[in-house]
Amino acid sequence: MENKDLLNIAKEYGSPVYVYDSATIISQYNRLTSAFKGVKKLKLNYAVKALSNIAILKLMNALGSGLDTVSVQEVQLGLEAGFAPEDIIFTPNGVSMEEIEKVAALGAQINIDNLSILEQFGSKHPNTPVCIRINPHVMAGGNSNISVGHIDSKFGISIHQIPHLLRIVENTGMHVNGIHMHTGSDILDIEVFLYASEILFETAKNFKDLEFIDFGSGFKVPYKEGDIETNIEELGKKLTKRFNDFCKETGKDLTLSFEPGKFLVSQAGFFVARVNVVKQTTSTVFASIDSGFNHLIRPMFYNSYHEIFNLTNPKGKERFYSVVGYICETDTFGNNRRIAEISEGDLLCFRNAGAYCFTMASNYNSRYRPAEVLWHDGQALLIRKRETFEDLIRNQVDVTIKLPESNKELVKKS
Ligand SMILES: *Cc1c(COP(=O)(O)O)cnc(C)c1O
Repeated sequence: MENKDLLNIAKEYGSPVYVYDSATIISQYNRLTSAFKGVKKLKLNYAVKALSNIAILKLMNALGSGLDTVSVQEVQLGLEAGFAPEDIIFTPNGVSMEEIEKVAALGAQINIDNLSILEQFGSKHPNTPVCIRINPHVMAGGNSNISVGHIDSKFGISIHQIPHLLRIVENTGMHVNGIHMHTGSDILDIEVFLYASEILFETAKNFKDLEFIDFGSGFKVPYKEGDIETNIEELGKKLTKRFNDFCKETGKDLTLSFEPGKFLVSQAGFFVARVNVVKQTTSTVFASIDSGFNHLIRPMFYNSYHEIFNLTNPKGKERFYSVVGYICETDTFGNNRRIAEISEGDLLCFRNAGAYCFTMASNYNSRYRPAEVLWHDGQALLIRKRETFEDLIRNQVDVTIKLPESNKELVKKS
């Protein structure tokens, strides 16, 4: 996909618009599978919450991926996209017993992350195989919001509670077929990841019917030049050897699973928006685009960096800009960015707009959520229409509001 293709897409479908390049998703998928080609049974379960458009899910299905889901609705989307229920794993946090039972009835693999539900579910459904999410208490990455394996995290069952966990499994006679960890969204240090894996291997020895070990995700992709990226190839080499040794030692023929979101889709995504106003102030030049954190919240929410370039005037002289949105809040996309000279009407493009961008979009300020386009095989496929006013009022219930007489008097007087 080239810049001219993005320009044509914006021309045809308007702005702002999300565009996903299938070639990038396919090559990331192949990169991960080839890093682990030495594992006999490898299963990738794409994390739906990163980008949940059904066309993307269908692409994942065609690649041979399974799905990692966090709500019954994501499970339903997966089924809608053609996945077999057994290729879907449900890894929620803090959901009700009813929701877990609903997903179990649909036939997806259940993953439980607290002792309370484990005991309830095991007592009621001892024959339904269950995976258990362990918290190995390992900090992978630096930001405490996205490192979920550490001691204060709400995710997973603490390794210090393994004795209690084993008692529940024994008392209920439930069938544990998998164990899982997901240490967060920033694997910078492979050694830290391997250290957490050792804890998982140690835990795995407790379960005689184990079929798979799920190492979660958190593979880091570069957002700007010089960013550290997870060295997948090195991780593949080291973990493959350790995993195969573990299978040999324990005489088990296990599946190794991962649930990547960002790694597969982040770099495939581009967000294109139009500049409404170029505004000079005493301290900076603002470029205001026809979007805001209602469409792309990551910069304001996580302080994430998304590279921004000028699609319309890529060769222009570079100047400094603060790129901001059009909603009535501070919604800065990037401060003090060097961008080829911007004129009103230009189209700006954001990189790394595949993961956690559209899926976090809202209707704040009563704006429509953008269209989504998949670039596949040299063709632009519209995969989600831009919303319309109909969408904003679809679920609103029209009622008649009458004021009491006393208020009417007041209104008249004033
Ligand atoms: C969000 C999530 C993932 C995906 O994380 P990425 O950083 O996008 O790869 C995987 N597993 C679980 C349980 C998740 O909640």
